[in-house]
Amino acid sequence: MSKTISILGSTGSIGCQTLQVIDIARDEWEINYLTVNSKIDELEKQILLYNPRGVAISDPHYYREFKKSTLFKGEILCGEEGVCEAAGDSRNTIVMSSLVGFSGVMPTLSAIESGAILALANKETLVSAGEIITKAAKQKNVPILAVDSEHSAILQCLTGEDSSEIEKIILTASGGPFRQLPLEEFGEITLAQALRHPNWSMGNKITIDSATLMNKGFEVIEAKWLFDLSPEKIDVVVHPQSIIHSLVQFIDGSVKAQLGTPDMRVPIAFALNYPHHIAMNFPRLDLLSIGNLSFYPPDLQKFPCLQLAFDALKVGGTATAILNAANEIAVQEFLGEKIKFTDIPKLIAKALDNIQNVPHPSLDEIANADAETRAYVRKEMH
Ligand code: MG
Repeated sequence: MSKTISILGSTGSIGCQTLQVIDIARDEWEINYLTVNSKIDELEKQILLYNPRGVAISDPHYYREFKKSTLFKGEILCGEEGVCEAAGDSRNTIVMSSLVGFSGVMPTLSAIESGAILALANKETLVSAGEIITKAAKQKNVPILAVDSEHSAILQCLTGEDSSEIEKIILTASGGPFRQLPLEEFGEITLAQALRHPNWSMGNKITIDSATLMNKGFEVIEAKWLFDLSPEKIDVVVHPQSIIHSLVQFIDGSVKAQLGTPDMRVPIAFALNYPHHIAMNFPRLDLLSIGNLSFYPPDLQKFPCLQLAFDALKVGGTATAILNAANEIAVQEFLGEKIKFTDIPKLIAKALDNIQNVPHPSLDEIANADAETRAYVRKEMH
């Protein structure tokens, strides 16, 4: 029986790799919608290869450009509403949510409300609105399958296990490109250096988040919501080889780990075929050529973003939405070479200190916190 998928953010890194995984068993898949923000040329190429039923283009300018030039005969949706419509279409059996940032929240909710299985690569959705998203998924009895390698590892370790027997989980972090850089030199970090991740090939935003370790902070928050764990039960260990993707420690002291080469197609395939592993012939893990695995504590002085994430999670309410929004703007400005690498955590800390927290926020309150934080951080910079 074929499965019907919509891919939100189909031209991004995860979107493209999702299509590569679909190629492995192409006849089992029907492509419902592909959605993009602005990359309409790449969308045209995907249309020729995958023949989707419809597309959505969230930037209205590029929607108009696309409409003018395309020969595509399927449905063409526009704007954030268009992406939400694609996400919530009742024909979807599975939705891959691989949008970047807060823009993923509403489409992800639409997918959940339609009752589709949710493959979630957009971690900012759980960071900003974890309580609402997980509650909605529970009400609809919809599984959230994380596409993050760490959370996929934990999901795999928990297969056949009782989650009440978890003592703690250990998320591994590569440590990023600046793990061994002396603290004194952090002020001189350039954009090109920050974009050079040692192990994983990813989009720009997440690559910067990995360099600051905010990505790991987000993953702690993500793990809290996905596995219903208190923050004290979530540890972070730096593991530069990125071979162990994460571990679960049980109440008898037994520890399970999931290992593999760093290749996002593996967690993508596991989410698309959960709970099954499918045959794939990407490079295998070769323990003898790796030789050693090493582990270090995260350096919170060099990487204050990780501490900020733990702190925001403990405060709860809109704190994690503020954390996310401040980080999105700071990273955007760093990508535009407007601020220094070390300004990123400073701006986030300021936003967390100065913006009023709302406990158990509604979706509107989260959206307000998001907008207020963006305005605040922009004002602080100029
Ligand atoms: Mg990850």
